[in-house]
Amino acid sequence: MTSLSIIVPLFNEQESLPDLIEQLYAAMHEKELHDLFLETFSFEIIMVDDGSTDSSCTLISNMILSMPELRLISFQRNYGKTAALSAGFMAATGNYICTIDADLQDDPFAIKDLIKRLQEGYDLVSGWKKERKDPISKTLPSKLFNTITRLFTGIPIHDFNCGLKVYRKEVTRRLELRGDMHRYIPVLAEWMGFKITELPVRHQARKFGTTKYNASRFFSGLFDFLSVLFIIRYLQRPMHFFGMAGLISFLLGFTISLYVTLDKILLHKPVSNRPILFLGILLLILGVQLFSTGLLGEMLSTSSSKESSFAVRETLNLTSGQVGKFSNPN
Ligand code: UDP
Ligand code: MG
Repeated sequence: MTSLSIIVPLFNEQESLPDLIEQLYAAMHEKELHDLFLETFSFEIIMVDDGSTDSSCTLISNMILSMPELRLISFQRNYGKTAALSAGFMAATGNYICTIDADLQDDPFAIKDLIKRLQEGYDLVSGWKKERKDPISKTLPSKLFNTITRLFTGIPIHDFNCGLKVYRKEVTRRLELRGDMHRYIPVLAEWMGFKITELPVRHQARKFGTTKYNASRFFSGLFDFLSVLFIIRYLQRPMHFFGMAGLISFLLGFTISLYVTLDKILLHKPVSNRPILFLGILLLILGVQLFSTGLLGEMLSTSSSKESSFAVRETLNLTSGQVGKFSNPN
């Protein structure tokens, strides 16, 4: 049986919810969607209320009474979209997972197109708001963000942060998100070896409520960008980063100190009034510190690796016990 879990992160979206849920149900009953599957098809809609202070939560609780496919996870307070998505991923039971924003800006009827693309052999299909209906204060920074991310990661997609995405469950099962990392999901997925592509989707202006993101997101976005870059390059080998930096610093400090010492011994120049001496000492200490940080990083990454650090696409001729060991997707 094929099942689809739709995850909807929401924060104070009471006006949009009735229309959204109605449209999602209509989209789930479309013949074109059912035609994509050979087997019977079922779905669930997981609403993740990210600490809303309006009546979003009550509204969903009431709707659940007559809609068995609807589920609700309600956070104690506002933790952010990344946490909401993570909670949804954990609760999802489907073999296909879809995320969609709650503000009606994404089109529920595009889900079937994304799934169709996924079935062409991809693990993640990200929507691309090709004609984005948002004010320029959003579209311009977003263009910049996408260009920088594309340049640094080499992943050729245009819209990393589109709310509308479809995944195979193996991808969401392995994603470990922190901070505001939902913006970099395609980067992390690609790094784990999953096949990623994008599909242009229709985008609409926000009808109700206001955007939940303002200028402060650029800073959190920047820091998350740095940690994602670090994760994809050095997570499993922190020593390669800290060790190299430490070694360079130590060698430089050592050379300077040696030079000052030889000057003193051979040419009898005084040492105490030479600023370069302090630079040498500083670089030596910094080198040792960076090196120890690298060692600590290695210890942490060894002891905290809960699962295997690789994603297995398929195994042949192994017993189920052996397969479990490799956390096989099936
Ligand atoms: N959202 C959330 N928690 C937050 C901020 C936003 O769950 O702390 C949800 C929000 O309700 C919406 C989606 O994330 O469903 C995207 O947010 P928004 O539309 O404000 O972002 P924009 O489209 O303006 O980038
Ligand atoms: Mg929006």
